[in-house]
This record gives sequence, C-alpha cells and structure tokens, in this order.
Amino acid sequence: MAKVEINCTNCGTESFLHRDALYEGLTKTGESLSCSACGHVYPNEEAVPFLNEIPQAIVFTDADRSQNPNIFSKTEAENLCRYCTNYIVNPFTQFCALHKKEVQATESCPQFNKYEDNSDSKFTL
Ligand SMILES: [Zn+2]
Repeated sequence: MAKVEINCTNCGTESFLHRDALYEGLTKTGESLSCSACGHVYPNEEAVPFLNEIPQAIVFTDADRSQNPNIFSKTEAENLCRYCTNYIVNPFTQFCALHKKEVQATESCPQFNKYEDNSDSKFTL
C-alpha cells in the first residue's frame, strides 16, 4: 500500500496516513483513517489533510479570481467600436465620428482605428 502523506491538523506535522480496514465479522465495513504520528483519527476521506492537495488549495483562492471578468476575449474585442478612436460616448448616445452615425459599443467595422490610450478616461463623463 502506497504511503500517503498528510499534514496532520491535530499534531501539525507532516506524517503519513494510517489506513486500517474495519471489519465486522468477516465483512469489511469501512476504513479507519489516522495520523501515523499522533494517532488522530479522521472521520472520513474528506477530512484527511492530504499533503499533495494543500498547494492546489492555496493556488486557487478567491483573491486570485479576476474581480472584473472580461466578457470578451482579446481577439473578439479587437475591432469593437468602444475601443476605436472614432467612438464617442455621451449621456445620450454612442456615436462614430468617422461614419457620423449612432453605434453600439459592441459593433465593429472595417475602419476600426484602435484607441491607443489604455486608460478609461475616455469613457468617464
Ligand atoms: Zn498527527
């Protein structure tokens, strides 16, 4: 049986999981999961602090998630009017300075001319 490393929540040491089959008569009824260092018994598999799972748990924390998920991928967003230098937005309309017509931020056109300033100052009123 492969030794499974755990980081015991009871004694705080890196030790091994001690797995004992539990029998009732001749029938296997379950397993006893305990720390090989201190003997602390874990009630079930989910409660066992497996050592190789801990780094994953740390990598994917809520803090790592993007606070403002971008609904457009980079390529999809490339030609959108809202990223074009000719796109003008005011409280009443979104307007294309090149085509002199009302546009939507999510439209795109062949005359797209990327707005180079990366700040969002253009979109604040
Ligand atoms: Zn322990």
